[in-house]
Amino acid sequence: MSVIERFQHEDLEAIRVGRFNLGVNTSFIVYRLGETVIDTGPSNQWRFLKPFIAEKPLEQLLITHHHEDHAGNIGRISQMTGVTPLAPELSLKKLRDGYATPLMQKLVWGYPGKAEAKPLPASMTLGSGEAVEAIFAPGHARDMTCYLLPERGWLFSADLYIANYLKMLRADEDISILLESTLKVLEYDFELICCPHRGLVKDGKTRLREKYDYIINLAGKVQAMHQKGVPVTEISDQILGKESFISLLSGYNFSKRNLVKSCLEVKL
Ligand SMILES: [Zn+2]
Repeated sequence: MSVIERFQHEDLEAIRVGRFNLGVNTSFIVYRLGETVIDTGPSNQWRFLKPFIAEKPLEQLLITHHHEDHAGNIGRISQMTGVTPLAPELSLKKLRDGYATPLMQKLVWGYPGKAEAKPLPASMTLGSGEAVEAIFAPGHARDMTCYLLPERGWLFSADLYIANYLKMLRADEDISILLESTLKVLEYDFELICCPHRGLVKDGKTRLREKYDYIINLAGKVQAMHQKGVPVTEISDQILGKESFISLLSGYNFSKRNLVKSCLEVKL
């Protein structure tokens, strides 16, 4: 059932892994550029990721946020290579102490990883001396950070993009903050999005702008219906369709109604 795919773009190497082959939401891509690896992949795919990590020397491990698909192997990679991971300040405690995850996430990704990471330094480079800019972009998670390579116009987008629309939301995500972060990232210049779920997305800035416009539009529709007194679940059914099997399985932790509720808070 596992998805395993290797691909390359110029000097960027990538491996896609995932226990279930159910599309972008159940698979994950670990990227390597020179001696830098961005995120670690989920713990239940370590048998495929270990040889990928082992095949080249590692100098730098950058973490975008604490979620278990991104940081599930942080402890293993750190132990195997001796490299201390670099992570956003707000990720450090969760990465050190671990945290509980819902059953469905354990099924898909395995357990969160644990490691002692260092906070991101004020300035970062790839081994070649090329600049790496960290852009703090919360909303999906409170600690989420994207990494931009300004000289190339490449953005390692963490979970900011994934798709140019959005149908479901986790209970701990905040659309208003996500929109602010998206606007902030759109102030930078980039052409290629390196998304850990979708893959490489050309015209990245245009696609991210489309996602922003889509959410603003959605929030407008949601709020108009809400003002007419339509209940949240009804708004959700009408605009986004019935809840999926995954929503039910997650006890609505990941659901369309969460997206509707969060859209109600957006200041338009
Ligand atoms: Zn995430």
